[in-house]
Amino acid sequence: MSTATKGTVYLVGAGPGDPKLLTLRGKELLEQADCVIYDRLANEVILEWAPQAKLFYAGKRAGNHALIQEDINRLLVEQAKLGRIVVRLKGGDPCVFGRIGEELTALNAENIPYEIVPGVTAGIAGSAYAGIPVTHRHVSSSVTFITGREALNSQSQGTLVTEGTLVIYMGMKTMEDMVAKLREAGRKDDTPTAVVEWATHPKQRTVTGTLATIAAICAKEDIGSPSIIIVGEVVRLNKNFAWFGENLP
Ligand code: SAH
Repeated sequence: MSTATKGTVYLVGAGPGDPKLLTLRGKELLEQADCVIYDRLANEVILEWAPQAKLFYAGKRAGNHALIQEDINRLLVEQAKLGRIVVRLKGGDPCVFGRIGEELTALNAENIPYEIVPGVTAGIAGSAYAGIPVTHRHVSSSVTFITGREALNSQSQGTLVTEGTLVIYMGMKTMEDMVAKLREAGRKDDTPTAVVEWATHPKQRTVTGTLATIAAICAKEDIGSPSIIIVGEVVRLNKNFAWFGENLP
């Protein structure tokens, strides 16, 4: 095991949920951490690898005010300056829609050393666990990760009409508008579309349909968050390759 350094911040990807999808590097750092600052989506079972660490919860929880980003930045700086081994645990990969830029900027400003430990992002893990390779020869040779908000933004129409696979994060609340936008942008009504809820968790559910039908299917099956939405021809492969969780309809 390589030793972690005091006064350093380790920004660690927790993976999408299944604790075994955390990297070996992530686990060895948790085992040495003096403190762990973690978000909601990180599976809390992972924290059992850091029984010695002081835990700080930085995510949102009902009835409880979330730490705002500046508070998190301040906490990271403060704990590192106390000479602690600091693990900043983030769901999925810390660099994918994880607001890591703000935290790195704050650390740079105080000359605090850091290491980024990648994690398995939900868009990759969720697709794989639903038996949907995000690229497939002769079917799709590119994949785009976007947020629901971005998909709604008309500036990004170029992205939306891409031939390749689209993987949408944080898109459930705006699903209907987003689907309308994709159709408007030229994506065909019958484009295969899947939604993977609680990917890699034992309660994972996958629904498949088309751009025209997916919103109604999600409403009927009561699919909520966290979920990723996958749009493109590769979704058809789910019929042959599904291997995990519940597959509807
Ligand atoms: N950094 C994270 C993403 C954070 S944004 C990563 O790399 O995965 C939060 C969004 O990620 C959620 O709204 C959802 O779209 C997606 N997500 C995270 N965990 C998920 C899971 N287990 N199953 C499905 N989607 C998930």
